[in-house]
Amino acid sequence: MEQDKMQKIVALCKRRGFVFPSSELYGGFAAVYDYGPYGVELAKNIRNTWWKAMVQDNENIVGLDSSIFMHPKIWEASGHTSGFSDPLTECKECHARSRVDHLLESVGVAADEKMSAEEIDDLFAKNADKLKCPNCGKNNFTEVKKFNQLVQSNLGNFTDDWAKEPTYLRGETAQGIYVNFKNVLDSARVRIPFGIAQIGKAFRNEITARQFIFRKREFEQMEMQYFVKPEEMMSVYDEWKEKRWQYYLDLGFKEENLRWHKHENLVFYAKEAYDIEYNFPFGFKELEGVHARGDYDLTSHSKASGVDLSYMDPNTNEKYMPNIVETSVGVDRTFLAVLTESYTEEGSDEQARVVLKLPYQLAPIKVAVFPLLRNKPALVEKAHEVFTALKKEFMCEFDDNGNVGKRYRRQDEIGTLFCVTIDFDTLEGGEDGAKDTVTVRNRDTMKQERVAIGELQAYLNDRLTK
Ligand SMILES: [Zn+2]
Repeated sequence: MEQDKMQKIVALCKRRGFVFPSSELYGGFAAVYDYGPYGVELAKNIRNTWWKAMVQDNENIVGLDSSIFMHPKIWEASGHTSGFSDPLTECKECHARSRVDHLLESVGVAADEKMSAEEIDDLFAKNADKLKCPNCGKNNFTEVKKFNQLVQSNLGNFTDDWAKEPTYLRGETAQGIYVNFKNVLDSARVRIPFGIAQIGKAFRNEITARQFIFRKREFEQMEMQYFVKPEEMMSVYDEWKEKRWQYYLDLGFKEENLRWHKHENLVFYAKEAYDIEYNFPFGFKELEGVHARGDYDLTSHSKASGVDLSYMDPNTNEKYMPNIVETSVGVDRTFLAVLTESYTEEGSDEQARVVLKLPYQLAPIKVAVFPLLRNKPALVEKAHEVFTALKKEFMCEFDDNGNVGKRYRRQDEIGTLFCVTIDFDTLEGGEDGAKDTVTVRNRDTMKQERVAIGELQAYLNDRLTK
């Protein structure tokens, strides 16, 4: 049933221009996706909502946009070149590669990506006879190998053997924040505690492509690193856990679809780590990480770069290495969670209405404007007039395709909050309404109201900010 919902969401994304598989003309390109006309609006609204909650709403959080390419030594200092890897096995029969934790999961053995190499090896050995290749169904695997997830490139290297000294496409945005800590501190008027927020692409050589946009090789992160006094880290951490949980409730997520997952296998430097998991159609999975990282990041970059990144408190002259509380979430995962949360079918028969009940901040199109008939120039002209005025305020769409019923159906499927129809009464006045009034139809209630054109903007403004 729930897998069915996933298929329906994937189909809607394609049909209505939210998400396309990458390079489809050439047979597709695994674990890479493109956002279409409505997808790009939804993704932009997700970014803006996060940015507002982090940067605009907090006076001590500032933004950053660091580059995708950075000095390769950064990835050594951070531990990514040695430790950023997934357990991989290859089928000896058909050579399909699988992630060992995913194979284990498929036979009901709980394994997660945070387990240590030894734990995964152990579980693999214990369950080896139960595991089947997802491609050919046989049971003949190689030993577990660790496969590094960093994506390499030849940027700035003009030799043929660049792979010996590769540059990397960043595996996470956080490192760009750590290495700019001092720049921000010296230039923006911030004092500890303060945060740096960043939205940007990151790249990971994921072994298997699964679950649509949940696990992409090219994806987008929204990360905030909050720098605090060591003794204040845990209390600040608890505050951020609360704030990030509330963020999803404010976006209209049902609380029963969210849960906390505590990391049992902490990376050695972390003090505490929880994920907010969302109830995706394929089960509860990580949506956002909220982690107390200690002083590992700045200490590592101090040592590796030779530049002291410790902080001198201007009031007490106390010197210390700031600790970090991190919040990290993907645009793409939020996108899929929001679609899962808002995808609704109403009515049970073939005529079921499909509607995306997106919160107003996230809906790609706020208002659609229709002339009742496309072949009546007076209606079309009036509708264009209304559309031109409204689009200065809201993301609007003009639609004169097919009959009004079909247009409602289409707008429901992309989550448009209001549909405004210009009919003959708009031009002349009549039984349904006075002259210069239009029909406004509400996506969620499907109720229609007659509103004067002169009051339309205020009417919509009232309802689009609540
Ligand atoms: Zn196989």
